[in-house]
Amino acid sequence: MKISSEPKLTADSYYEASVTRPLSRGALMSELAADVCVVGGGLAGLSAAIELRQRGYSVVVLEAKHIGWGASGRNGGQAIAGLACDISVIEKQLGTEAAKRVWDMTLEAIDLIHERRAAFKIH
Ligand SMILES: Cc1cc2nc3c(=O)[nH]c(=O)nc-3n(C[C@H](O)[C@H](O)[C@H](O)COP(=O)(O)OP(=O)(O)OC[C@H]3O[C@@H](n4cnc5c(N)ncnc54)[C@H](O)[C@@H]3O)c2cc1C
Repeated sequence: MKISSEPKLTADSYYEASVTRPLSRGALMSELAADVCVVGGGLAGLSAAIELRQRGYSVVVLEAKHIGWGASGRNGGQAIAGLACDISVIEKQLGTEAAKRVWDMTLEAIDLIHERRAAFKIH
């Protein structure tokens, strides 16, 4: 089922039911200047925007629906280190060194979640 064809999936999610959302902004009708324009206000887009801001860039996030509308607002909230496939698959593709780096990144990602949770007071 395509997410875009099933808005009720979002409407009934835990996040949607518990979020306090600021008034939605209308469509962007004027010109904006920024160092980076991020398209999509899901985990990937917002994470990129936060990292960029922390490095001193000005950032605009453009979201077609509302923040967290896509997969990010529907997921199970499981933060599990590792990959969706066996590490040997990655090792075959990238070699041992790079596969180890990929694995380490999945551990760093868990740390980052904890850091962001504390920094943005997410409970
Ligand atoms: C049911 C479900 C359960 C899941 N459970 C887990 C889990 O437990 N743990 C886990 O780690 N992962 C889980 N996932 C996966 C995880 O949610 C996704 O990998 C992640 O949210 C993807 O984030 P994203 O920012 O790439 O995409 P999305 O969250 O989908 O964000 C993309 C955003 O871009 C916007 N957009 C698209 N096109 C445009 C455009 N042209 N202009 C402006 N905006 C646009 C969309 O409206 C959307 O808000 C789950 C996913 C689903 C669907």
